[in-house]
Amino acid sequence: MKKWPNQLFINNKWVDGIAGRKWDVFNPANGTLLESVALADARDVDAAVQAARKAFDEGPWPRMDPLARGRLLYKLAGKIRDNLADLAMTDTLNVGKPIRDTLGFDVPCAADLFESYAGLPDKIAGKCYGTLPDNVTMQFREPMGVIAAIVPWNFPLTNAAIKLAPILACGNTVVLKPSEVSPLSALMLANLALEVGFPPGVINVIHGTGSDAGTPLVEHRGVDKITFTGRHQTGAQMLQAAKIGMKGVMLELGGKTPSIVFPDALLENVVNGVITGIFFNLGQVCVAGSRLLVHASQHDEILARIISKVGSLRQGDPTDPKNHLGCLATAQHKKIVINYIEQAKKEGARSILNNAHLSQGEGCFHPPVIFDGVTSNMTIAREEVFGPVLSVMTYQDEEDAIRIANDSDFGLMANVWTNDGGRALRVSRRLKAGRIAINGGGALRANVPVYGYKMSGIGAELGFEEAAHEYTNSKAILYSLGTEKSPWPE
Ligand code: NAD
Repeated sequence: MKKWPNQLFINNKWVDGIAGRKWDVFNPANGTLLESVALADARDVDAAVQAARKAFDEGPWPRMDPLARGRLLYKLAGKIRDNLADLAMTDTLNVGKPIRDTLGFDVPCAADLFESYAGLPDKIAGKCYGTLPDNVTMQFREPMGVIAAIVPWNFPLTNAAIKLAPILACGNTVVLKPSEVSPLSALMLANLALEVGFPPGVINVIHGTGSDAGTPLVEHRGVDKITFTGRHQTGAQMLQAAKIGMKGVMLELGGKTPSIVFPDALLENVVNGVITGIFFNLGQVCVAGSRLLVHASQHDEILARIISKVGSLRQGDPTDPKNHLGCLATAQHKKIVINYIEQAKKEGARSILNNAHLSQGEGCFHPPVIFDGVTSNMTIAREEVFGPVLSVMTYQDEEDAIRIANDSDFGLMANVWTNDGGRALRVSRRLKAGRIAINGGGALRANVPVYGYKMSGIGAELGFEEAAHEYTNSKAILYSLGTEKSPWPE
């Protein structure tokens, strides 16, 4: 493993924070110190925004031949693939993700995103409105400016790529603030961007806490748009900050994904899908399928199969490729998960999984938990736990299933399991969520926009047209051909 970058990345230079402060980044699996990273405050944020501003207003990036811009994104994707092992190990050590996941999903997905968006720059197009004979009206889509991108810790590299690939493809410059919990892979990404030749100021990465670096960043008048992924409570603060300078804002927030299993579904696939849906990354996934809705007639069989399958999972050292489950990202987050579990018990949910064979509470490890008898009024059914906790709810008929699934403040994703195509689409149309996965087809795709209904977000992440809409300004140019009559009398 190479040494990690441990400074701020501003204007293509590695710098210490002006205050000279450092932040220790730990391995949650064993508590060891990984790196002490420079910590930004408002002055460093200002320097990063100024660099991004200058690069946007005066630098080559927004004016570059779109194909050349695409080629740089493509090269960055290649660099990510070349550094697969180091990047994967970094996120594994930093947030306790199993190495099989970071090697198999996180890092390849980040590379795919840059590769996919490398093809976008020369496809961004406006419109021509030709309704009047004496006026030609053209709409252009122009790069928007300096984008403040703030991301959480659950997929450190992938979340950074989800933001950066479309932002850069659209010709913007960016100040990225990774979570203070997990800055290492984002700093490595900055290094790779430097190696492939991104111009100064196009990508800036500042490491700092939400209050010391995040707030000054989103409130900065030099920022044109905020794009944020994180908790809905923090998202609400972004809306406040956006008022300063009337910035655009895009929010990708939490979820409480329901998975409805209809009696005609193929149970073997259901069981695998449900288990991966909630226990992948120990449930620290915005779209984690945390509410399982089963028909009363199948309740016992489905639970028996799930319990048996969970029994075959291995939890332990995240760097061991044999392990399916690692640990939670921080001790603080583990406390939050435990509080939700205790609260669920107090409110009458029944814990039904004997998880004694799995890792029990050393460090940030927490085994999977399954609660049965959960009802929509319980906290465990309403709030995002962001941990390995599955809530089982029972429905009586299709109508009841839809009602329970929609009884949530969130609307990020929903799963439908059925072999009846008509029912699959009928139910999907009535579910209030931005992404519906039928029979497990819910993987993240660069070309598919992700919207959140209700408290799950504002605006679209990914999707080519949507990205071009989120990260460019529209400009209409109305060109008179000289024959238009004045509305005033001569
Ligand atoms: P968080 O909201 O606590 O933090 C997210 C980021 O915001 C971090 O970088 C943090 O430093 C920063 N931040 C915190 N306070 C800030 C402030 N006042 N001003 C500016 N920045 C501030 O979220 P988290 O705990 O890191 O992540 C978990 C959450 O992220 C979950 O709710 C999860 O559902 C959500 N998430 C959503 C998606 C999605 O696509 N919808 C994807 C991944 C994670």
